[in-house]
Amino acid sequence: DAKQDGKNSWRFADADLNITHVAKANIEVQLRGALERGEFALHFQPLISLNTGAVEGFEALLRWFSPVLGQVSPMTFIPVAEAREMMSGIGRWVLRAALKEARGWRDEALPDSYVAVNVSAAQFDAPDFVADVMAALQDYALIPSALTLELTESTVLANIDSARSKMMQLKALGVRIALDDFGMGFSSLGQLRYLPVDVLKIDRVFVKELRKDDAAFVRAIVALGHSLNLAMVAEGVEDAQTARRLRTLGCDVGQGFYFGHPMDISEAVRAINTSKHREKPSLNLKLTL
Ligand code: C2E
Ligand code: MG
Ligand code: MG
Ligand code: MG
Repeated sequence: DAKQDGKNSWRFADADLNITHVAKANIEVQLRGALERGEFALHFQPLISLNTGAVEGFEALLRWFSPVLGQVSPMTFIPVAEAREMMSGIGRWVLRAALKEARGWRDEALPDSYVAVNVSAAQFDAPDFVADVMAALQDYALIPSALTLELTESTVLANIDSARSKMMQLKALGVRIALDDFGMGFSSLGQLRYLPVDVLKIDRVFVKELRKDDAAFVRAIVALGHSLNLAMVAEGVEDAQTARRLRTLGCDVGQGFYFGHPMDISEAVRAINTSKHREKPSLNLKLTL
């Protein structure tokens, strides 16, 4: 009867909540010490010039292989690490590990390339963030333009005045700033004029619309970005048609499974070399490994 159903659905809801709680608690427990145990790694996803088909650089993406939980997505563990104040330590490791690899591939294969590093809100908020970045660049003897920092709108807007001041300091030093997942928040348009941003990364939700022949939003965003002198990057490029359409719309850089999945460092270096030795890169944007 109805009462019984009500009870059952309560029990189910409760069970669901519990699973979520248990999973989060478990993640938190396993995250403690994960850095010291060496359970993190970086993968690198190529950023491709839509003009030439060449690799411009790579985005560093954090991977966690827990011996207990297996591979856990950054979408799952980063919020837990943020909430439990573990993310600034992890973020510092990511920055240094990414710069170390960039030093290597710039020497070996691609001198003018850069690495794009995601920065969490907690990490960016730390008072010594800019000093940390500069120290890390110096330690790996890298010029600031070898680094792009990817910030999300919510990170910037959480504390707009201090964020703006840090962004200005970084820009003055020559570090590039990208606004990640652009278009997902609605307050960014107005703020954009006042923020020293160099790059807009169009969220893949909008890039997907190109497959349905719906280019209106991407076209408008690219036009807006270019009128503000920003470089435009499209995320989530999964097929050739999308890549061609983005190029037609004047988008500068593409990133996505079509060009290459996030890969380990040795594969990334191989991707650079195949891209360099292609005959007509502009006619064939796909990276074949
Ligand atoms: P993001 O910075 O927007 O990174 C792009 C995400 O899209 C990555 O997911 C990437 O694997 C995925 N992706 C790339 N190409 C495609 C495609 O063609 N199709 C689809 N469906 N997905 C694609 P990932 O590696 O799972 O990372 C998720 C998010 O976690 C990142 O989104 C970023 O917000 C965060 N993250 C990853 N690494 C770090 C890090 O080192 N520090 C911080 N603070 N956040 C990170
Ligand atoms: Mg990113
Ligand atoms: Mg993104
Ligand atoms: Mg995204």
